[in-house]
Amino acid sequence: MTENLAKTETETVTVDNYIGGSWRAPASGRRIPSLNPARKGEVVGWVPDSEPADLNEAVAAADAARHAWRKLSGAGRGALLYKAADLLENRAEEIGRAMTREMGKTLGEAKGETIRGAAILRYYAGEGMRPVGDVIPSTDADALMFTTRTPLGVVGVISPWNFPVAIPIWKMAPALIYGNAVVWKPAAETAVTAGLIMACFHEAGFPAGVVNMVIGDGAVIGQGIAEHPGIHAVTFTGSNAVGKRVGQIALARGAKYQLEMGGKNPVIVAEDADLDLAVEATVSGGLRSTGQKCTATSRVIVVQGVYETFKEKLVAKVKELRVGDGLDGETWLGPCASEKQYETVTRYIRKGVEEGAELLIGGGRPDDPALADGFFVTPAVFDRVTPEMTIAKEEIFGPVLALIRARDLEEAIALANDTEYGLSASLYTRDIGNALTFIRETDAGLVRVNAETAGVELQAPFGGMKGSSSHSREQGRAAIEFYTAVKTAFVKP
Ligand code: NAD
Repeated sequence: MTENLAKTETETVTVDNYIGGSWRAPASGRRIPSLNPARKGEVVGWVPDSEPADLNEAVAAADAARHAWRKLSGAGRGALLYKAADLLENRAEEIGRAMTREMGKTLGEAKGETIRGAAILRYYAGEGMRPVGDVIPSTDADALMFTTRTPLGVVGVISPWNFPVAIPIWKMAPALIYGNAVVWKPAAETAVTAGLIMACFHEAGFPAGVVNMVIGDGAVIGQGIAEHPGIHAVTFTGSNAVGKRVGQIALARGAKYQLEMGGKNPVIVAEDADLDLAVEATVSGGLRSTGQKCTATSRVIVVQGVYETFKEKLVAKVKELRVGDGLDGETWLGPCASEKQYETVTRYIRKGVEEGAELLIGGGRPDDPALADGFFVTPAVFDRVTPEMTIAKEEIFGPVLALIRARDLEEAIALANDTEYGLSASLYTRDIGNALTFIRETDAGLVRVNAETAGVELQAPFGGMKGSSSHSREQGRAAIEFYTAVKTAFVKP
């Protein structure tokens, strides 16, 4: 399996589950294709269509491994994370190519994400040596009272296709360093990439059963993880519809859970903004990765004094963007990740037009006949969007920007908050007072001034407010809150 995956340039590979330290074909023998969205019909890999029996085996392997794993020192666990980081980094080109072929983002972004995955592993490897508790003065002068952290047991990880390396790693790395065993269900759309990540963990020498991967349908394996009594905690990133369900199932059986879900992220352009910078950030934040980032800019709220000038500059910039196969070095914007995603995006574009927004540019198929075969959409900018329109309310997850006019900054912030989501928001301004008002008043977990909405640093807490999250945070030191339980210890000599 590992050798087979080493040559993922153009051929079709077969991916197995990874259970108890070895590669296993699914019990059913059935496989599903992982397809290249840039070239219809090209199968990147045949991946397991697993059944509950496969999941049960993985949970049993994790359960058997977790006791010895938690007894290792943090430094001992960290040493394996460092090894996995080096292996991942060394294979960044290969993993990046597999990712581009499976979900379409440009090779530069895909390699960059893989290298970021290595950095996340190193950050959490170091976490094995950092403090975990406090000494708290007891009212009993003879006693020692302190807090310590204990692992949860087996953690179930459910991840989406849009960041197929970074997201599972920012979940698995903290789960592992704090002493948990892992059962991971990647998105089937990017399961070849997932197989390559697992190969790095395998080569790094993690003890059998500490990390397991089961690939399959979300409704079977994903839901199976949420329901499984042998899984003590579930961490999920994906859509709101699925996330809420996962959370309800976990809650009902008393398992700890964490949900990171969608966004409808605004950029606000104030009257005193540097418009060229704001345009750059809107294009980059909204359209890179074909708009398929949870933090992608979707609503562009512009204060009226600069609205027309900003609009002209934005359209001119969008016109320059080159749509193409992500493997082509000239491409700025790849295809939608799948046929399903393409259908969703084009349905929203039609809806925008039907509801009276004005499509200024894009929203169709590229002219290049070489792209006729893929799920490409030219980046779209809508004008005259009002807050009650569907494209101003619902997450599109595609290359679509909606321009909304505001009277002043106060109204712009009210419009920014007029959504069920609260993941990320940004403001362009030269005024420190505006910046502080925006930071104070905006309901989002990530608020950025003079920087695009899509910017997440691995050492800082990340997560949403309102409907975007279960109100926990991932990444940085914040991860310790989910992946461990606090124990308060009291010792009387
Ligand atoms: P999705 O909800 O369809 O799938 C996410 C994962 O859940 C996949 O592994 C899928 O197989 C699994 N799944 C599907 N049905 C399931 C079920 N019934 N029970 C359990 N698991 C199930 O989402 P997607 O289309 O893969 O990803 C896009 C979404 O993810 C967008 O809404 C995006 O905003 C969100 N996202 C959020 C963040 C964040 O950190 N907040 C980051 C990236 C993506």
